[in-house]
Amino acid sequence: MAPSPLFYQAGPALPEVSHAKGVYLWDDTGKQYLDGCSGAIACNLGHGRDDIRDAMLAQLDRVAFTYRTQFESAPAVALAETLVTLTHRQLEKVFFVSSGSEAVESALKLARQYFVASGEPQRQRFVSLRPSYHGSTLGALGVTGYEPLEAPFADITTASLKVPGPDFYRHGDADDAWHVTRVLEETRATIEAAGPETIIAFVLEPVGGASTGARLLDRRYLEGIRALCDEFGCLLILDEVLTGVGRTGAWFAYQHYGVTPDLLATAKGLGAGYYPVGAVLSRADIVETVMASGGFQHGHTYAGNPLACATGLAVIDAMQREHVLDNVAARGHELKEGLQALKARFPWVGDVRGLGLLWGVELVADATTKAPFPAEQNRFARITALAREEGLLIYPRRTLNGVAGDHFLVTPPLTINAADTAELLVRLERAML
Ligand code: PMP
Repeated sequence: MAPSPLFYQAGPALPEVSHAKGVYLWDDTGKQYLDGCSGAIACNLGHGRDDIRDAMLAQLDRVAFTYRTQFESAPAVALAETLVTLTHRQLEKVFFVSSGSEAVESALKLARQYFVASGEPQRQRFVSLRPSYHGSTLGALGVTGYEPLEAPFADITTASLKVPGPDFYRHGDADDAWHVTRVLEETRATIEAAGPETIIAFVLEPVGGASTGARLLDRRYLEGIRALCDEFGCLLILDEVLTGVGRTGAWFAYQHYGVTPDLLATAKGLGAGYYPVGAVLSRADIVETVMASGGFQHGHTYAGNPLACATGLAVIDAMQREHVLDNVAARGHELKEGLQALKARFPWVGDVRGLGLLWGVELVADATTKAPFPAEQNRFARITALAREEGLLIYPRRTLNGVAGDHFLVTPPLTINAADTAELLVRLERAML
């Protein structure tokens, strides 16, 4: 057979997917996989749902695509209103996009245009965390703190400052509050040295995703960053591409912390794997300022098309009808208990952390010193391959920059039931034996 013309990443040849239903997928040999990571934390409602298909077909029959400068569309207006309502009107303006990277990119550009329009053009850079992941377009990559992705583009991405965030596994044991205070003080010192008047915004994931293995930010930390933003007159952009639309058990993760962003990027779960759709949510006055000075100089062809928005609406409607957030809380608790039992059993499981149905498992060579495995052992790749053999998909990563080592995410569809959650844990345990 001729080699495939597709190129994504180095690695073993992949089996061909045949079909999928609920939390299970099958390949062309008939092997079944439990989707323990919702693809790439996207298929939040599982596979093969009739209600989403029906809503999409109904929209396809009316009109699939219109361009946003030529027509308003009912699904776009309705989805925007729904998203605003889910923020309790804390964020009142919505700009649609087709991916997480586009959502982050759009938020960065909106923030910059806001300051240009406000007469503060000297605000030219962002502050973000190392490690972090905010997307693959050059702007989003510019605020990403993940060495292998950054390196080839270091000279041409947006100038940004990368600061450490809290790391409770490695530094918080003695006193979490003290750790947060110290991290905030270091961050303040970095900003003051750089010039607070040059900063456009802080960009943060409220719960780290693939870059940190679900490292949680802390309420005190987020309150501290919010206070810094207010003091320095810059904006707070939350990247909820992964955490938004229910993943952590709230509609948006910031709602757990009671700290409101000025801009929020979301994507993955909004289309739930059925169609690419993302959004930037913004404080109304930011958008009004930009619109009053000639409009937002930005856009993507497929942004906010009727089919995308009808899909997003159907997803949120299904989540509301089925009380999916309650399921996230219940299954999240079971998953946490199961993962903690695995940690108690396997000494090389260093940390289990997360929220809702976003769980990270960090693997270490020595649980006492928390020393990571040497990179060449590829533990993250090995555990993923073993899980695959057991019919379980998990989402692996190795964090570099000397901050942490191997970890994987366990992020099943938000609709997973108790029996499948138990099955997921059984398959994971077998893979770890
Ligand atoms: N931000 C975060 C926090 C993400 O997890 C991702 C995707 N993993 C992105 C941005 C980029 O999203 P996309 O891959 O849809 O462009």
